[in-house]
Amino acid sequence: MPQRTTTTAVTLADVFGYPEFRPHQLEIIDSIIAGNDAFVLMPTGGGKSLCFQIPALHRPGTAIVVSPLISLMKDQVDALRANGVAAAFLNSSLSAEESSAVLSALRAGELDMLYVAPERLVLDGFLQTLSRVELSLFAIDEAHCVSQWGHDFRPEYVQLGCLRELFPEVPIVALTATADEQTRLDVLRQLNLSGARMFVTGFDRPNIRYSAAYKTRPAAQLLEFLKQHDGESGIVYALSRRRVEDVAAKLVAEGIRAGAYHAGMHTTVRARVQEAFMGDRLDVVVATVAFGMGIDKPDVRFVVHYDMPKSIEGYYQETGRAGRDGLPAEALMLWSMQDVMTSKGFIDAVANEEQRRIETHKLNSMIGFAEALSCRRRALLGYFGEELIGDCENCDVCSDPPETYDATLDAQMALSAVYRLSERFGMGYVVDVLRGSTGQRIIENGHDALSVYGIGGEYSKEEWSSIFRQLIHQGFMRVDVGEYSTVKLTPSATAVLRHEQEVRLARPPAPRPKAKKLAKTAKRAKSFALETDEQAELFERLRELRRGIAEERSVPAYVVFADAALADMARRRPTTSEEFLQVGGVGKAKLEQYGEVFLEAIAGV
Ligand code: ADP
Ligand code: ZN
Repeated sequence: MPQRTTTTAVTLADVFGYPEFRPHQLEIIDSIIAGNDAFVLMPTGGGKSLCFQIPALHRPGTAIVVSPLISLMKDQVDALRANGVAAAFLNSSLSAEESSAVLSALRAGELDMLYVAPERLVLDGFLQTLSRVELSLFAIDEAHCVSQWGHDFRPEYVQLGCLRELFPEVPIVALTATADEQTRLDVLRQLNLSGARMFVTGFDRPNIRYSAAYKTRPAAQLLEFLKQHDGESGIVYALSRRRVEDVAAKLVAEGIRAGAYHAGMHTTVRARVQEAFMGDRLDVVVATVAFGMGIDKPDVRFVVHYDMPKSIEGYYQETGRAGRDGLPAEALMLWSMQDVMTSKGFIDAVANEEQRRIETHKLNSMIGFAEALSCRRRALLGYFGEELIGDCENCDVCSDPPETYDATLDAQMALSAVYRLSERFGMGYVVDVLRGSTGQRIIENGHDALSVYGIGGEYSKEEWSSIFRQLIHQGFMRVDVGEYSTVKLTPSATAVLRHEQEVRLARPPAPRPKAKKLAKTAKRAKSFALETDEQAELFERLRELRRGIAEERSVPAYVVFADAALADMARRRPTTSEEFLQVGGVGKAKLEQYGEVFLEAIAGV
């Protein structure tokens, strides 16, 4: 494909219909256009795709995009084509004829972008074909899949390491939303990208409002939440297949357009549910975590966890599916001590001790998040090693702080116990000592002779655990996962031990704490910042129109227009093509395809 001679800003507007770049996009794009390798770590919804799509249009040749998610490829390619980009994909879902048509287009240099599955890319024959065509770049999406450290290792990714040497002139871009330091280094090593420029952007998703509530009557709590999100797209995650089906059935009985999705269902049934959700014919999908990897719907307005997830990584990835379009979205987690026990049971069944330890740590962090007394976003970002300056004012704790008590004495007991035990034991052991347990290990170690032995007998194990987790959250102690999950004091513990600082904690969740009132959320119109009834009414009409078009063309609704674009239309009420082009998300190709019908609808014809 001929390379574009306009500026990247013009491409952004003409092709993608956006007036400006998001933070970091331009910097990354310029660097790739200049021919550098890049590593891009950006949160879900941050706008990673444009970082390689625009360079693909500005460098000569075809861009090869590697993605593990076959189910996503078609949608991504459809969305690009709708914007007038010459894109295609190659994966096992194509017939032999379709594949060879794509290959001819590739050989003829007719493609801007070609999406391929990793196992296809590394076939000898395919690599040879690639060596004979002009390539603009390689983009490796979900790059963490190459690392065993990551949470989603895929063996077929490992072979991608050969690309750097085979195609020395072609820039390689690795992109991911999930990578801790260790995974990051491993990705660079595995892909031989030692010279890549690193672009690590923040994890924060400011448009998502986080809240957690203790389960009392979960089904009723969920319904109350859904009532406030009538007609909006959302996902409800539950831990077991059985639960998924039960909850979905309840919602349907309440007249909600809901469907179930889990790995035990037949593939065609699952595909149908997913398509209906993408096409806005289903509002709510109740699912196990099997649902989501292939979901790239920008206007998901809420994600509910009906059961407590096993790790913050998983939770963050799942909630990250809400609000990709940058508009307000909600993440609600329901949890209970029963959930904690169930997860503990799973962990106990794991044979490998090292893995058990890591999973226990992850679960404890998750519980800590559930019980957070200070800004929940701060706790989340802190988990990923990022500090938030000031509270977020967009989480349930910020808007409705929990009841606390002066826990200085409790904190002192806990901290001194850690200290007396030379910071060499895990939380469970320290709690046992505090409670005066007569366990064999304690007696053998002579810890029943310590001054702290048995001083905390009036609290149960669970209550102490809650106190410890809160102290960890507030930064008075930390868990050293690298060293058998022992509990260590931090420098701030000193002030507490010296009676120089007061500590406030939430009352530990005694058997059944009062359920917190669920956050009131605004109606849909409000979440798109639509101010008048006319705007809200037009927005609904445009959604109807979009639904019809999407169904007719068998594409996801957002391929026609994202909600954000419809909301912008409702606000601006464009009457001419020029005005229509001003709408966010409307580029030239969209104007040509849909301008007329949408302008008519807006004019009320
Ligand atoms: P990621 O791959 O990082 O999860 P995407 O590339 O899918 O995110 O982008 C998320 C959403 O943000 C998409 O709907 C995309 O069209 C939109 N988007 C990306 N860049 C911009 C921009 N500069 N202005 C407006 N919207 C954007
Ligand atoms: Zn907050």
